[in-house]
Amino acid sequence: MVYSYAQLEQWDKQYVWHPFTQMKQYVNERPLIIERGKGSYLYDVNGRRYLDGYASLWVNVHGHNDPELNAALYEQLEKIAHSTLLGSANVPSILLAKRLLEYWPHMSKVFYSDTGAAAVEIALKIAYQYWKNLDPVRYATKNKFVSLKEAYHGDTVGAVSVGGMETFHRIFAPLLFERIEVPAPYVYRMEEYGREQDVVRHCLNELERVLASQHEHIAAVIVEPLVQGAAGIIVHPRGFLKGVEALCRQYGTLLICDEVAVGFGRTGTMFACEQEEVAPDLVCLGKGITGGYLPLAATLVTEEVYAAFLGDAEEDKTFYHGHTYTGNQLSCSVALKNIELIEARGLLDDVQRKARRLAGWLERLYDIPIVGDIRQKGLMCGIEIVKNRRTKEVFPRAAMLEHRIILEARRRGLVIRPLGPVLTFIPVLAMSEAEMEEAVRILYDSIVCLYEQARAELG
Ligand code: PMP
Repeated sequence: MVYSYAQLEQWDKQYVWHPFTQMKQYVNERPLIIERGKGSYLYDVNGRRYLDGYASLWVNVHGHNDPELNAALYEQLEKIAHSTLLGSANVPSILLAKRLLEYWPHMSKVFYSDTGAAAVEIALKIAYQYWKNLDPVRYATKNKFVSLKEAYHGDTVGAVSVGGMETFHRIFAPLLFERIEVPAPYVYRMEEYGREQDVVRHCLNELERVLASQHEHIAAVIVEPLVQGAAGIIVHPRGFLKGVEALCRQYGTLLICDEVAVGFGRTGTMFACEQEEVAPDLVCLGKGITGGYLPLAATLVTEEVYAAFLGDAEEDKTFYHGHTYTGNQLSCSVALKNIELIEARGLLDDVQRKARRLAGWLERLYDIPIVGDIRQKGLMCGIEIVKNRRTKEVFPRAAMLEHRIILEARRRGLVIRPLGPVLTFIPVLAMSEAEMEEAVRILYDSIVCLYEQARAELG
């Protein structure tokens, strides 16, 4: 049965509540209804195609409808779709755990879940319980978490507790556990502290101040390594992550690296931690893990953390946590193939090469006076739109300028998303150079178009 756009639009507006979406506004706009995908393109139900400039929410690695990923999925489907990891094992989850740990030689166990937020939730609970399992009296007060200003780790209550994004998190404050916030090196908006490395020093000093005075109360520090994605692609200067790790070691707290957004090649290496040779105690993986095919996430831990959970039944050291679809066979099979293809296709070298070309094309956006800052790490880019370059003032929210830019881009054949005043370009990792150049051209034209409109409206 083929349904018309009009019918689907009506039912979408009638029945579906979209995430992170003000539905009052949504129902007044024409929805984008995707029907299929191929490579870097998404196709809507009217047959129009769009370059996937958000990698379908930062997940897509090899492109849509990849024959080899499809085959891996079908092959697994012929065997079984799902059985439980509670009290039993399955083949793909065993092979995938082994494969993931090859990338993290200092770690020893993989705990599966199905979304990034769950992987974070699990990391937080493991970190908390780790200290209690070690010595409930000595570590009775090690209950708090440190995270960065504007941190984003997902939307479940635990993940929101360690989040620092005012707009998303403020309303839930009474539901959350206590978090200690430290500054993040958001160089563009911290010029009062000096240049990049001065900003890094300031942030690390603040972290040290917190850890020195409160380490007895701190279970773990959680960070998004190298890039804070949801905060607006805040790229941390070199040395910050390494400095955080050193302070965690010095003051005896665990380090959790949330690689949900940056993992699986997004920043040019398989994992972001590699770039600063950082060895966290816990790692959260998600998004690109299945190449953008199916929901899967994982929390990796070191042997030291894992060992604290071993004990006789009466000791009650078990980690009482698990989700129904943990270790799902279909997801794990596709994830295995995804990793195999990243290696076989030389995708990481490819990403690094394309990232260099992309930097050149993005540079041209500075021609437009409302482009305040362009930030990029690998194929993760943020373009901060400002009303005034000197004062860095942003446009009033009511003007919805960034939203209008992305609608314009969509009209011209590119889908991207804004994060506050920041336009993000996070393409399918396998997007070709020609496609990427085309995407940046559309972005350029769309910003210019709205810049001219904004000048007319706002002066
Ligand atoms: N951590 C980070 C760094 C993320 O960017 C996200 C999602 N954008 C999450 C966790 C949450 O992942 P999910 O949406 O799969 O729950």
